[in-house]
Amino acid sequence: MKKAPSKRLFGTNGVRGVVGTEITPDLVYKIGAAFGSMRSGRIAVGRDTRTSGETLLHALKAGLLGTGCNVVDCGILPTPALQFLIKEEFDGGAMITASHNPPEYNGVKIIESDGTEMGDEETIKLEQRIFDQTFSIKPWNEVGIETSASHLVERYIDAIVTQFPPDIGKGIVVAVDPGSGPACRTTPEILKRMGCRVLTVNGVMDGTFPGRLPEPTPEGLAELSGLVVSSGASFGIAHDGDADRSVFVDEKGHYIEENREFALVAKQFCTQQKGFVVTPVSTSNLVEAISSSNHCEVVYTKVGSIYVARTMLALIHDKKKVVLGGEGNGGLIFPNHQFCRDGGMTAAVMVSIVAKNNRNLSSLVKSLPKRYMIKEKVKTKNASVIMKELKRALMKEHLDETDGLKITRGSSWALIRASGTEPLLRIIVESENKTDTGKFFNEIWGLIAESLKSDHA
Ligand code: MG
Repeated sequence: MKKAPSKRLFGTNGVRGVVGTEITPDLVYKIGAAFGSMRSGRIAVGRDTRTSGETLLHALKAGLLGTGCNVVDCGILPTPALQFLIKEEFDGGAMITASHNPPEYNGVKIIESDGTEMGDEETIKLEQRIFDQTFSIKPWNEVGIETSASHLVERYIDAIVTQFPPDIGKGIVVAVDPGSGPACRTTPEILKRMGCRVLTVNGVMDGTFPGRLPEPTPEGLAELSGLVVSSGASFGIAHDGDADRSVFVDEKGHYIEENREFALVAKQFCTQQKGFVVTPVSTSNLVEAISSSNHCEVVYTKVGSIYVARTMLALIHDKKKVVLGGEGNGGLIFPNHQFCRDGGMTAAVMVSIVAKNNRNLSSLVKSLPKRYMIKEKVKTKNASVIMKELKRALMKEHLDETDGLKITRGSSWALIRASGTEPLLRIIVESENKTDTGKFFNEIWGLIAESLKSDHA
């Protein structure tokens, strides 16, 4: 059987790499020209705050304009804000961002007219055009025109604020850490307009990220935690570099693990409506436990937010009710808003949860069942051989092959996947307690070690 073509440049979240070596203006020009050759009409573009963003955005625009697209430059804004605008009023778009990667990185995300990221099939066609350099370059009288529309971000802010009753955040103090990223323009404003009092750290856009790295980690959020505690705020919110994800610290300044954040939101949504919750196979079983105890059903997908978004759309197309989608990394998708992860919307939802329950965030999170997870990775160039051996060894288990191998034993599970971009295997094991997780992990680790040994023989 002929192997299906796979993506070579784009990963699960667009093209990303170090600027100057992997990501160059030349490559980004070609991405623009390839995309512009495949689509036509009004294309919206934007970027995060990275220092390389301006150069790369110019290159992208040159490619799009040269192939006859009309470009609307939405300026610096969160990825979900651009996706929202595209869904509402454009024929497609592209975002210059490297999301949570360090400052020296940048990349491109291609967005379709429905606001979702370009799917695998179209991405492979786009890559082929880049490799073959088959661009429909237009003559002088057919090139596109460019307009600036930095103000359009207001429409995204309005769309979120109007989802909630007026002044729902009254009396709630929230500390926001947009991480010097594009959410400096949106999240504080959204929360203020919901009635909250808003304090910020790293609230000035700066592509050198002077306060913390774009990935929100418990260590990186020490300043946010300190502000929450010293100000008596109800909770703190932080975003990754392009604000499609939100993470939280409770009123005591404690970081809330992202699967628990997802479960808390799922609990809120599943008590209000019945339907499906969509998430990748790598998400904690806690989300399924909460959803099913509230008569909602979880549908699992491959790892990657695009698969979650597309599965949600497919279910809706089949007249199924979809309550919520998301990943266990703080990236949540709200189907009544749009079909991509949205950090600003997640922040607003958390305000509504605290307001409605009239309880501390720490006590809301504490009321969720406990889970214990181990994540590990193993370097190997023979991931596919090891995966085959594991499958044979685990034949008698309850196996799921949506993405890699998932072994489920009641509420315990293990997932082993070959990375799509690096020569390594990723392992996740979860149970209700530390002992069971440790035992299960050792078992899986033993099988992999056995495989690795024969690998080197
Ligand atoms: Mg991101």
